[in-house]
Amino acid sequence: MDLVLMGLPGAGKGTQAEKIVEKYGIPHISTGDMFRAAIKGETPLGKKAKEYIDAGNLVPDEVTIGIVRERLGKDDCKEGFLLDGFPRTVAQAEELENILSEMNRTIDYVININVDRNKLMERLTGRRVCRNCGATYHVVFNPPKEEGVCDKCGGELYQREDDNEKTVGTRLEVNIKQQQPLLDFYEEKGYLQNISGDQDINDVFKDIDRLLGGLTK
Ligand code: AMP
Repeated sequence: MDLVLMGLPGAGKGTQAEKIVEKYGIPHISTGDMFRAAIKGETPLGKKAKEYIDAGNLVPDEVTIGIVRERLGKDDCKEGFLLDGFPRTVAQAEELENILSEMNRTIDYVININVDRNKLMERLTGRRVCRNCGATYHVVFNPPKEEGVCDKCGGELYQREDDNEKTVGTRLEVNIKQQQPLLDFYEEKGYLQNISGDQDINDVFKDIDRLLGGLTK
């Protein structure tokens, strides 16, 4: 089961990734997580990646493709994998095709969790964070018992600077622009499966599960 998971910020990709790897027992390969771990461990890769990530840029393709190639060669990927955050460019997508074909494999599905842009704005700008313990809430979807007060520790809730409408709008635009060529690429290959992310978390997973169930028959 060789899968790529896609979705804009706020679409619920992380939540669904957790559910997929738990049920299907395949490794969750997030390039963002790999870079963060490398930075924390101060490895040579981490040193290379840090300057790009800190500047808000993509890590160069040759570096990113290198770590993915190495990771997919590991034993735990024999029965499949869930790629998250990769590919981010068409060059990466093409190289992924090559890596897999060298292993006599192909992608089974590219799962795109689709949520309307306005809904994403609402989800992302409604986030509130506790100043004291870092717990997160949402003014509509997951409100605290008392407005502005953390249920867990009584701390004050605030809106992060980068969750304001302007910044979130820009972040979404950048991501939409980045993602579209990849969706087109995978649509043409016939791998793309759009799943509606505008429903209850468990219902989103039910749709994904129904799709993947067909692969295990
Ligand atoms: P993420 O957690 O997926 O948002 O990734 C955090 C950061 O890591 C991104 O903003 C990029 O700088 C870098 N990164 C993660 N995945 C990739 C990728 N596939 N290609 C290039 N850079 C990446």
